[in-house]
Amino acid sequence: MPEDAGEDPEVLVVGAGPVGLTVAHELARRGVRARLVDRSAGPATTSRALATHARTLEIWHQMGLLGELLPRGRRVEHFTLHLQGKTLMCFDTNYDTMPTRFPFSLMVDQVVTEEVLRRQVQALGVTVEWGVELTWFDQEPDGVLAELRHADGTVEQVTAAWLVGADGARSTVRKRLNLRLQGDSTQTWLNADVVLDTDLAGDSNHLLHTGRGTLLLVPFPEPGKWRVVDTEDTDHADDARIVRARLADKLTRALGRPVEVPEPSWISVFTVQQRMIDRMRAGRCFVAGDAAHVHSPASGQGMNTGIQDAYNLAWKLADVVRGHAKESLLDSYGAERVPIGETLLRTTKTATALVSLRNTVAPLVMAAGTRLLGALKPLKRRIERTMIRGFCGLTLNYAHSPLSLACATPDGIQPGHRVGCSVERARTSPGWQGLVTELTDPRWTLLAFADSREQRQLAAQAERRYGKAVSVRVVAEAATSKRVLADPGDDLARDFAMRAGYFVLIRPDGYLAAKGRLSEDLDGAFAALGLAPADAGGNPAHHLDSGGPRMRIIDLSATVDAADRWEANPVTHEVLTAAEGAQHMAEEMKEHFGIDFDPSVLPGGELLTLDTLTLTTHTGTHVDAPSHYGTPRDGVARNIDQMPLEWFLRPGVVLDLTGEPVGAVGADRLRKEFERIGYTPKPLDIVLLNTGADALAGSPKYFTDFTGLDGKATELLLDLGVRVIGTDAFSLDAPFGHMIAEYRRTGDRAVLWPAHFAGRDREYCQIEGLTNLAALPSPTGFSVSCLPVKIAGAGAGWTRAVALLD
Ligand SMILES: Cc1cc2nc3c(=O)[nH]c(=O)nc-3n(C[C@H](O)[C@H](O)[C@H](O)COP(=O)(O)OP(=O)(O)OC[C@H]3O[C@@H](n4cnc5c(N)ncnc54)[C@H](O)[C@@H]3O)c2cc1C
Repeated sequence: MPEDAGEDPEVLVVGAGPVGLTVAHELARRGVRARLVDRSAGPATTSRALATHARTLEIWHQMGLLGELLPRGRRVEHFTLHLQGKTLMCFDTNYDTMPTRFPFSLMVDQVVTEEVLRRQVQALGVTVEWGVELTWFDQEPDGVLAELRHADGTVEQVTAAWLVGADGARSTVRKRLNLRLQGDSTQTWLNADVVLDTDLAGDSNHLLHTGRGTLLLVPFPEPGKWRVVDTEDTDHADDARIVRARLADKLTRALGRPVEVPEPSWISVFTVQQRMIDRMRAGRCFVAGDAAHVHSPASGQGMNTGIQDAYNLAWKLADVVRGHAKESLLDSYGAERVPIGETLLRTTKTATALVSLRNTVAPLVMAAGTRLLGALKPLKRRIERTMIRGFCGLTLNYAHSPLSLACATPDGIQPGHRVGCSVERARTSPGWQGLVTELTDPRWTLLAFADSREQRQLAAQAERRYGKAVSVRVVAEAATSKRVLADPGDDLARDFAMRAGYFVLIRPDGYLAAKGRLSEDLDGAFAALGLAPADAGGNPAHHLDSGGPRMRIIDLSATVDAADRWEANPVTHEVLTAAEGAQHMAEEMKEHFGIDFDPSVLPGGELLTLDTLTLTTHTGTHVDAPSHYGTPRDGVARNIDQMPLEWFLRPGVVLDLTGEPVGAVGADRLRKEFERIGYTPKPLDIVLLNTGADALAGSPKYFTDFTGLDGKATELLLDLGVRVIGTDAFSLDAPFGHMIAEYRRTGDRAVLWPAHFAGRDREYCQIEGLTNLAALPSPTGFSVSCLPVKIAGAGAGWTRAVALLD
């Protein structure tokens, strides 16, 4: 349920599989009020999708999920063929013609993918409502009236402006909209997830021909665990002993050595389906993922394609809901995704035929073909490229979409195509590094190649008119302000085939929409894409929410919880109940003013509650004042009630220090992070350190296992004019144990509390005990409000720190 429950949702998302979760994430990231319901009692526990391909990995990077998912998966970069005891050939991957920063497939259990998505969705304020089934809905002119049946049997009616059916292959939404899945189902396969004692390379998928049929082996991230897909025999699936014996026999024959098969963790039989619908929107309703198309799992496309549907739809819906774009934008969803689904059905059909190799002469053809390929290396490379094109999702494009505007330049990245670069380009090109980070901003991106005042003015004008929906960056040799994206080597100009006076406009999902001349083509492009300019007052011209543009608030504060959170300095919390409050008031009135009052005349005999807490000012999320750091040289340090309020409501910058070991990072690490995010903090920016330590909050480890700043790093931020530095850890310094060990090792007193003591000479404030910094959608582009509670003479004050996003 969204935090602002009570109000009708703007979008009702049905189904909390990977597709529904992606839709909800992307809507919430853009400030749309979404509700996410699922009829299951809780999350699915069976593995299902394992393979995540390059295009989905790019999406996860834009969504801010990749950091968590990458370490939990296994990279696969090969495909190996085996025939009756011999390894025939190992195909490598070849992404030469499809530049990507992720040239591999990542094997991650769908259970893990969904878990990470759920956590991020929750951090954005949407909680999955389990046990809530959509049973019926009807469309009205300005909304959808839906009936939800709760697990306890109660039925709720809800109205939402839009409805997204991500409710899987048996979709209620699809059926109610009368959209028919067309296509066929061909074969039936058996799946067994099992730990095998084999020497097969774990960075490859393996296709084993047993002489009669094939087994496909796909590695799990866990060492030795494989998904074994038997494309031939599916009977007795409910008897693990028979399945184990049969697979052991086949594996032994195919690999030419004895293989034992222990108890699988999951056995399932499924029909290979190739079906899809021909429309994905009907009025105010959409379908996405398995609800719209079901594929053979031969090349692992179902979840990948569904996530890409969701990623295509959600920003469009958000732009329309928030009044940034005309409703016609939503027609492009089906126009773009239906042809993609059709192409995929063709390629997955081919992949199914190749994997199952049912032809009786297949073994002979395999042996002869691989001998030939061994001799003809260029042909092998071509086949490797073709294989990858079929499943990586990188070559699929929207060139024929109404959102891909014709341009006069035939060179460089073209409208409708993905904006991406290779690992090498991302490593060596500051321009691409800046752009890749920029694309994590949930808005459109306008790159203005401007080298004159007039051209920069055109960019500034675009920002004034479209800035709510479009992030405007001027591409120049050096970054002189936050708006400038530095491209010292002109790499972006070259790769887009643009020069000064031109622009490129990139959609929120990372595809190029338009490019042309700043002075002649830009306004036309905005109009053709249906983007709505802000009115003269700077507000979007149209907004469905009658309150005007909604500010999104991300809570960065920990909960003070005496009952349920361990603290080094225990918190006590006494509550005077409303009934006790009535009695107390009557006694006080009598004692102080001589007034008799019978509390039982109050409704229910109750007055008001009263909470009494004992806690230090350093409990929970709080701001440290300079007086906390000790006595400065001039002998005067300000207390929290004396600090200028202007310091505490300022633009924010979040630095990613997750993955750093326990201790303290130095100035170079901060400089590297500035380079990565393409931004160096400005005077009075509020700098937040995302160390990930808040995951330990409420446990003793929170006080001992975290990363802080060393003296030089603190000085660097103070030199830049920063006056408020926040952390999600217990302290801005390294943990006590670490500092004391360093001091014993070096004898250097400067290693003791350097970050705090820096504030004795140079006045600044720290925010400690923040949380939820990973929910910030991008390193910049938000404000922080962390006004401290006004406590006379105190060295710190609690704060309800929040990030404010337009
Ligand atoms: C064995 C196997 C292997 C696979 N391997 C891969 C792979 O390697 N790569 C890949 O990309 N894909 C793979 N897939 C496919 C992938 O699992 C699916 O494509 C993916 O789960 C689809 O996601 P979804 O969110 O569209 O639907 P689902 O995951 O099916 O989620 C739909 C949700 O909607 C809920 N729901 C249904 N009806 C209602 C209702 N009326 N009201 C409320 N809630 C409702 C359901 O409870 C469910 O939680 C594999 C599938 C299988 C079975």
